[in-house]
Formats: sequence, C-alpha cells, structure tokens
Amino acid sequence: MNPEISIVIPAFNEEESLNALFEDLYPVMTGMGRPFEIIFINDGSKDSTLGILYDFYLSHPEVRIIDLNGNFGQHMAIMAGFEQVRGEIIITLDADLQNPPEEIPNIVAKMDEGHDLVGTYRVGRQDPIFRKVASKLVNKLTNRIAKLNIKDYGCMLRGYSRRIIDIINMSRESTTFIPALGQKFAANPIEIPVTHRERGMGTSKYGIFQLIRLNFDLMTSFSIVPLQFVTMTGMLISALSFILVCYMLLRRLFLGPEVEGVFTLMAIQFMLMGITLFSLGITGEYIGRIYREVSRRPRYSVRKIFEHETEEK
Ligand code: UDP
Ligand code: MG
Repeated sequence: MNPEISIVIPAFNEEESLNALFEDLYPVMTGMGRPFEIIFINDGSKDSTLGILYDFYLSHPEVRIIDLNGNFGQHMAIMAGFEQVRGEIIITLDADLQNPPEEIPNIVAKMDEGHDLVGTYRVGRQDPIFRKVASKLVNKLTNRIAKLNIKDYGCMLRGYSRRIIDIINMSRESTTFIPALGQKFAANPIEIPVTHRERGMGTSKYGIFQLIRLNFDLMTSFSIVPLQFVTMTGMLISALSFILVCYMLLRRLFLGPEVEGVFTLMAIQFMLMGITLFSLGITGEYIGRIYREVSRRPRYSVRKIFEHETEEK
C-alpha cells in the first residue's frame, strides 16, 4: 500500500538526538492509524548517524534512508527527500527534537481540512536570545522584500500537499529555502502555533556565518530588491555629490582655494568606499548564484537508498 503521510527528516551528525526522536515520532505516527513512511536523509554525517538510522530501517518497514554522498546542507537534503516521497501529505521535521513530533497530527488535521500548506510558528521558542532577536528582524525583512507572509522562517515543521511537492521538485535551483519556495506555490496556506523545545542533545549545525549565508540565500533566491537597493543608493549618492560639487565649485570661485576639511573628506571617502564594496558584494551574491546555476552541477549526490520492497510504486 502506498503511504498517505511522508515524514522527511534531514540529519547531519545527529547521533545524540536520533534515538529520542524516533522514540517520540514512531508512536505518534502509528497512533494516527494511516499508512506512512519516514524518510531520513543522511547529509554526510561524520558520526554514527547512518548506523543508527540503519537500525531503525532494519526494524521498521516504514523507514527509508537516503544516504547522501557528502554534506549538501539542510535544504538540499530535504530536496533529496522530496524527490523520493510517496505520500499525499508530506511533513518536514528537524532531527534535533526542537519541533515536537506530537504536533504532527495537528498538521495532518489541517491538511485534511483542505489546506495545501501548513506552516508553523514557534511559541515559547527556546533558543539563545540573540538568535531570537535576529530571527525576528530577518523574518520581517524577508517578508517585505520577498513579498511573502511567513511568521517564522526558522521553523521547519511544515506540511505540504503532493501538488506543492511536485512543483518544488520541478524547481531546479541549487540554493533555496524550502518554506519560502513552498509558500510561493501554496493556494490555501495556514500557519499554526507549535511548542518549541531547547535543543536537548548535540549542537546547532548553524554557526553565525552559516546563518548569515542562509539568510543571503533566502533573500537573493526570492527577491531582487537588494539589487534595486544598490541602484537606489547609487542614485541618491550621485545626486547628493552633484549638489556638493556645484557648491564646492562656487566656493572655489568666490572664496578662493581652501585646504580645511581634509579629514572630513577622508571620512566621506571611506564611507563611500564602504558603500561601494557593500554594493559590489550584493551584486556578487547574485553573480555567484548565476554562476552556480549555469554550471548545472547536480545539486546533491546520493550514495545509496535503503528502502524496503513495496508491492506497488
Ligand atoms: N542539517 C542537515 N545538514 C546540514 C545542517 C543541518 O541536514 O548541513 C539538519 C540537522 O541535522 C537538523 C536540521 O537540519 O535536522 C536543522 O539543523 P539545526 O537544528 O542544527 O539548525 P537550527 O535548529 O539550529 O536552525
Ligand atoms: Mg535545531
């Protein structure tokens, strides 16, 4: 029988969390009384993650493992999972137990009501304060420039309909942000609150630099507003300096040569240099992505898929 519900879980060095996750998740899934599958994607873990997943696989017919041939990042890992899912309702989940599996039935209930995308936002989020503040700002900014409306970008616990997954699978971009991609194609999305736990075991796989990278991916993949911002800044500065030049010219003509203000000049120069570099950087972010897209490399590579025989495909 084909599964109705597919759970997609990327795992990168999650040996400490997986057992606890599975112990929570499996009863929740069987409790719903509908055929399901759980797809784990091993994103190039260096620890015993694959071994633990393999044990789940051996003892549970619903478990499938996609073993990637290296670390391709959370979103590509999820993509790899999406290409294999068989269910009608697809739910993504983090491996670190920060999204409680007990929320899954609530998501499924909303999908049954006819929503094609069920997002979640975290209430009582248990993360370091700087991440919470940063997320708030990033959520606001991203919604604005990407013209989306997502309360909480960081919350991966989400339900997608088959239709949306099929469209996501047609999107070939190699840097992406799956919740935003899903939202773009959703006809009837809804967001529900979920509880959030502290990362019990293991450590976050995102350091500050990875977070910044991820946010650049998010903004540049879904909007060209940053580029327009560069153009606007350039226009503004040109206009201001034109006025300044006229003013200086008049001063030179009527007051004669002046040498005061050399340091002011330097300060202004440095500021402009900063803006120039920043703008070059933003432009470069896009060029880098264009380069990656035109080189058309496979986005990830699968070493092996572990799955049990099914009667029909
Ligand atoms: N993850 C992954 N590949 C990576 C980084 C993370 O598959 O390169 C997985 C990780 O195992 C976890 C999920 O993505 O299941 C979210 O990662 P994490 O909890 O570290 O992120 P945070 O919750 O801190 O944003
Ligand atoms: Mg986490």
